Amino acid sequence: MTSYSIAAIPGDGIGGEVISAGVDVLHALAAKDGSFSLTVEPFAWGADYYLEHGEMMPSDGLEILKGYDAIYFGSAGDPRIPDHITLWQLRLKICQGFGQYANVRPTRVLPGVDCPLKGVGPGDFDWVIVRENSEGEYAGVGGRAHQGFDQEVGMDVSVFTRAGVERIHRFALDLARSRPRKLLTMVTKSNAQRHGMVMWDEIFDRVKADFPDVKTDRMLVDAMTTRMVLDPKSLDTIVATNLHADILSDLAAALSGSLGIAPTANLRPEKDFPSMFEPIHGSAFDIMGKGIANPIGSFWSASLMLDHLGEHTAARRLMTAIERVTGAGSIMPRDLGGEATTKEVAEAVINAIRTSNE
Ligand code: NAD
Ligand code: MN
Repeated sequence: MTSYSIAAIPGDGIGGEVISAGVDVLHALAAKDGSFSLTVEPFAWGADYYLEHGEMMPSDGLEILKGYDAIYFGSAGDPRIPDHITLWQLRLKICQGFGQYANVRPTRVLPGVDCPLKGVGPGDFDWVIVRENSEGEYAGVGGRAHQGFDQEVGMDVSVFTRAGVERIHRFALDLARSRPRKLLTMVTKSNAQRHGMVMWDEIFDRVKADFPDVKTDRMLVDAMTTRMVLDPKSLDTIVATNLHADILSDLAAALSGSLGIAPTANLRPEKDFPSMFEPIHGSAFDIMGKGIANPIGSFWSASLMLDHLGEHTAARRLMTAIERVTGAGSIMPRDLGGEATTKEVAEAVINAIRTSNE
């Protein structure tokens, strides 16, 4: 029997609520499957850890995580600590420390969920956004000087490297090729950003020559927002920079019905370091501790994790279970118009897993 070791980092706010529900679901899947087992080790890193130790995770945190098959992450962010600290010292430290350069975000409207777009419903679009996850606008390069003086300056420098751009385009083209429509839209802003973005375009054109069977087109990022809203069916796989895809994927999450559904995978495709799986949403201060957070984003992320581990049957079984619950409509979390608590949604999904005949 294959056995996987998962590091769980619930983090802050509703992170703990949705990850604990997700871990229950993972155990139910392993029990149903019978051919693999999971051990889940929780790590209490995040804001409370920071207030006690002055850092979001221990300095040897990456060394500890390195031995796990995957990382299951909740959210980082706390009203008592500036957001750039919580983000950089935990989530980005892991993403960048493990070279998780491909951030993959599937989006579709699940059965029983209302799409905010007129005339668009379940099955009408099925996107995967590929976000460059290691450099670009979030490279962390820049600085502040002359603080407090009139000449104060703050700079964030976007860094695009040939190696970084080439590997993300290749990854996206490969992914597009593996999907039925074999269609990739490349997002850019090379009209205004005439250095890094022009290189981004040029490298895309070169790499895509190796994928003659993939149909490609190109959109400026501002125009892309209107296409996502007005013509969602025309899109399939999408590749964009770190910042552009960050923004587009929150729009995508909203178009799928709620931020609470949306999953993401921070992939290290070479598998020499663990990859990390997490819901897109943050700590949701307004609802934390109430037990009403939608856990579907963390469940979908668990499905991406199982796919990455090679457990495709369990990954599919989980998606089917989620869709059975949302499709039936009687147990829906509040952000999807229902009354159900996090626990009730988890129980319904676990029940659907147990009774699945896939
Ligand atoms: P947020 O995602 O926490 O919340 C935005 C809105 O969506 C809120 O009204 C919230 O209640 C709702 N929402 C989010 N997830 C939900 C769920 N599962 N079920 C029901 N409703 C849900 O975004 P924000 O308010 O911009 O950020 C709050 C904190 O989280 C900040 O500190 C931010 O830095 C952090 N954050 C962290 C991550 C991450 O760790 N990956 C991502 C985004 C934001
Ligand atoms: Mn974001």
